Amino acid sequence: MIAEARKRVEKLRKEIQYHRSNYHINDKSTISGGVLDSLMHELSKLETEYPELITPDSPTQRVGGEVLSQFEKITHQVPMISLNDVFDEEELYQWEHRNKGIISHNDNWQYFVELKLDGLAVSLTYKNLEFVQGLTRGNGREGENISHNIRTIQDIPLDLSITEDNIQQLKSHNADLAERFQSKWQGSCEVRGEVYMRDSQLQKLNRELKTNGQSEYANTRNLAAGSIRQLDSSIAASRGLSFFAWGLITDLGQQTQQEEYWILKTLGFPVVKENILVSNIQEVQAYYKQVYSLREGIDFAYDGMVVKVNDKNIQDQLGFTGKGPRFMIAYKFPAEEVTTQVVDIISQVGRSGKVTPVAIMKPVNVYGVIVTRATLHNQDEIARLDLKIGDTVIIRRAGDVIPEIVKVLPELRIGVETEYQYPENCPECDTPLMQQENQVNRYCPNTKCPARNIGYLSYAVSAEGFHIVGLSEKLLIRLQEAGLLQHINDIFTLTLDDIRITAGFGEKSAHNLFTSIQNAKHISFRRFIQALGIPMVGSQTALQLSRTFKSLDDLLITTIEELQNIPDIGDKVSQSIIEFFHNTHNIDIISRLIESGIHIEYETVKQGKWNNKIICITGTFTSISRKELQAIIEEQGGIVGSQISSKTDILIVGLDAGSKLAKAKKLGIAIITEKELQDNDII
Ligand SMILES: [Zn+2]
Repeated sequence: MIAEARKRVEKLRKEIQYHRSNYHINDKSTISGGVLDSLMHELSKLETEYPELITPDSPTQRVGGEVLSQFEKITHQVPMISLNDVFDEEELYQWEHRNKGIISHNDNWQYFVELKLDGLAVSLTYKNLEFVQGLTRGNGREGENISHNIRTIQDIPLDLSITEDNIQQLKSHNADLAERFQSKWQGSCEVRGEVYMRDSQLQKLNRELKTNGQSEYANTRNLAAGSIRQLDSSIAASRGLSFFAWGLITDLGQQTQQEEYWILKTLGFPVVKENILVSNIQEVQAYYKQVYSLREGIDFAYDGMVVKVNDKNIQDQLGFTGKGPRFMIAYKFPAEEVTTQVVDIISQVGRSGKVTPVAIMKPVNVYGVIVTRATLHNQDEIARLDLKIGDTVIIRRAGDVIPEIVKVLPELRIGVETEYQYPENCPECDTPLMQQENQVNRYCPNTKCPARNIGYLSYAVSAEGFHIVGLSEKLLIRLQEAGLLQHINDIFTLTLDDIRITAGFGEKSAHNLFTSIQNAKHISFRRFIQALGIPMVGSQTALQLSRTFKSLDDLLITTIEELQNIPDIGDKVSQSIIEFFHNTHNIDIISRLIESGIHIEYETVKQGKWNNKIICITGTFTSISRKELQAIIEEQGGIVGSQISSKTDILIVGLDAGSKLAKAKKLGIAIITEKELQDNDII
């Protein structure tokens, strides 16, 4: 194990160093911050597990960045350390737990919580009330002298003469602190903080660039860092940089982190007004959620919080670990992109028999959700990613989007990775798989395949079909294993005891499920058609069939010609429907469903302004969701089409409409905008 860990550690270090030097030294990003964080996190976990692998040059032992040669190098009086990270609530509580183990006599665990700014850390020195020197963090021990650029930042005071107002304000916070401060203040100090750029300032600069036809800047962090490291100070001056102070190295009487914050304010430095004192670790967690949701409304970037033990005495007693001090940690926001390892690729058989490769991954938190699986769609996707079992991958998830593997990091391979073998036979029933011509997907042709059956049953009882609340896939499998369930109609003949015993349910839960099965016997024609699971028949085709045919009997005896005449139902779909109804097994299931008491509710044909019109939707809408718009179209007798074709009657366009709009224009299809829908009181 250690041999493998050693190889992994070496690869991780190389990869991290490559991206870090791009980020810190060349001020450009070759990878997202979230990805870099998760690589660092893995490295530091491995080093905790195998301390013998720690080397002085490991990225965990060093602050990011090097000293650039074109600037004068100056040694920091006190090193500029970097922070250890935590990524979730559990790690936050573990941090406190470890600290409590070191200092058991303390019972006051208050925390001062600060926004973690995404800028460039600097150290500022003042002597006899005057600014004398500004240094970058550099490698933590030595920084670059950037005093000439610091002088151009309007937020930074060059003279520390303190006004009577400021002293009065300090007194109002804490009279004792004001006294301590006044007895110590001699006009000299070292202050640390962050040079950053406001979002509004970046937008302003980009507007100017755009007007001049020049390319725009990507983000505030890289631009702030790039500006402060210019030899010509007029460049930094023109960029409109800002500053927030977060640290005071000199002892000016502060006994807590919060007192340090007040002194910085008294000295005339801008401080982040969202930084607060909380009384325990639970409140840290609560505030984390609050500041996370505040991001949109704040004019500068922050990527998490810095949590500091408030009491300076306790801070000193806690000491150091690895690269950072124990008394403070960076609590990062969930990243949209993280890394993890693919431990296996399995082949999953779906309802239609389609075999899909699925990546099984080491559990990882992506954007606040623990992810262990990601679909790989088909063999082409595996080839496109060049994915092997054992690979390190970048996972992305944003908003409500399903997590996906976006990239493999091949540099991290250690030679034990293996290729995925697409199965020749069904992994569930061992039937040889079929592949249709010109199609990448393979199918299990066995209609009695247990995987296909459970997949089908879960679909049939879902909200799109019978909508039986509480009938989970797990329960379906148990019922099947108990021999109580083979076909969909069996569900409707289950007794209360069948459910109670098989599911191991209490009286009440069993009764609830039994009731929801009875209620599901009343079903609309459209949902009944959907629940049959006819291949290629989705929600819109089911809607059209339910409108076209007066009854189930009419549908059962339909002909291919009749189906082809229905708008937006193509040849392939028609063929699939005919095949389904010519299969005696299917007809048998349908008659047994009706015998078990299923009552189909037929829809009254709607006469709306879009009767039988095929309407496509594209782009994003500001006043209505797509689902709502779809319901309105159906209410008006229309049918929502998925693809633009010569059969399409209308295209409704929102913002950022793409290829569908171009195609519709080419085909001369009527186009309606969101505003036109509003003007005509349709939405
Ligand atoms: Zn099978």
